[in-house]
Amino acid sequence: MKIHEYQAKEILRKFGVPTPKGVPCFSVDESVKAAQSIPGKVWVVKAQIHAGGRGKGGGVKVAKSLDEVRSFASQILGMQLKTHQTGPEGQKVRRLLIEEGADIKKELYVGMVVDRVTQKVCLMASSEGGMDIEEVAAKTPEKIHKIFVDPETGIKNAEADEVAAKIGIPPASVPQARAVLQALYKAFWDTDASLAEINPLVLTGDGRVVALDAKINFDSNALFRHPDIVALRDLDEEDAAEIEASKFDLSYISLDGNIGCLVNGAGLAMATMDTIKLYGAEPANFLDVGGGATAEKVTEAFKIMLKNPKVKGILVNIFGGIMQCDTIAKGVVAAAREVNLSVPLVVRMKGTNDEMGRQILKDSGLPIISADNMADAAQKIVAAVAGK
Ligand code: ADP
Ligand code: MG
Repeated sequence: MKIHEYQAKEILRKFGVPTPKGVPCFSVDESVKAAQSIPGKVWVVKAQIHAGGRGKGGGVKVAKSLDEVRSFASQILGMQLKTHQTGPEGQKVRRLLIEEGADIKKELYVGMVVDRVTQKVCLMASSEGGMDIEEVAAKTPEKIHKIFVDPETGIKNAEADEVAAKIGIPPASVPQARAVLQALYKAFWDTDASLAEINPLVLTGDGRVVALDAKINFDSNALFRHPDIVALRDLDEEDAAEIEASKFDLSYISLDGNIGCLVNGAGLAMATMDTIKLYGAEPANFLDVGGGATAEKVTEAFKIMLKNPKVKGILVNIFGGIMQCDTIAKGVVAAAREVNLSVPLVVRMKGTNDEMGRQILKDSGLPIISADNMADAAQKIVAAVAGK
């Protein structure tokens, strides 16, 4: 689960990470009032969307007067902000963060993720903050310093100090940087985060270490432990189809292609998407209907897939283990009838009662294309969508 920058900063502040003073706002008038309440002569008007790269996209502006705060706020609020993380259609800005302008001397990067290989939290830090860290990692990996944190001790003072020195924190500010790194780790750990990033972490003219941006993603499987974090969810920022799917307990992720996939089991769903790609097409979604899918669930899954106007064909790939193929076949037939299916549908079933399942599809009189194996299924749907 993702949250906004201002929410991430509130969390970091509670753990002791210094951030500029800031107020989240939902209107232009509120923004001007917020700026009046923040001391200083420079404010930053920041679009709040669940995507990075806002600065480059025109969603972060430095205002030197209250008039400028007003004009930037009215410019940014409601805009369709496009960044490298939003996709070409962009994301509508509904919230702003009005923040105290910082005196930036140096922009640094710090981030944390769970490292699967060492099964530890990995702290990454770099002197090259503010810009795309992916580019730094690709072109100058030696500029990224890492600590694999021992869960028994957390980040040790000596480790933190060494990293701080490596990314160019002057000796007088090292104790502050150490505190920030340790606070970030504590925040990451206590909230069950999957990613926490401060980019940029800045060194100010007077030697302070301050988080100017903040991003935290949380492990969805741990959210039951954090009702306070669940309350920060902003459904406007999430994919409508994914929200709808979650109501029916379907694991659904929207993708860019045109072949809808309905599969049971996450592994089989991944393999199905790979097979579609192998034959030159792109999946429109990842969809795992789970082990105990009912006819109702299958119907809902069809409806959700077909709401996407890009879907030009559907591939159903089912392994009948716990779930029996005849049950799924009945569900597919009922769903195809209910939604008046108008795109080609290829079904591949294997496992318990697969013969019965195929017979049900055949007897339905619907133009369902049967397939024997995954390669056959993928080739058939790719061909059908291409109109061959
Ligand atoms: P994004 O990563 O989405 O582009 P950031 O919050 O990192 O958004 O802002 C982009 C840039 O804007 C920062 O790298 C920094 O240079 C500047 N900036 C952001 N917040 C402030 C602030 N409070 N004071 C001064 N400059 C800021
Ligand atoms: Mg940033």
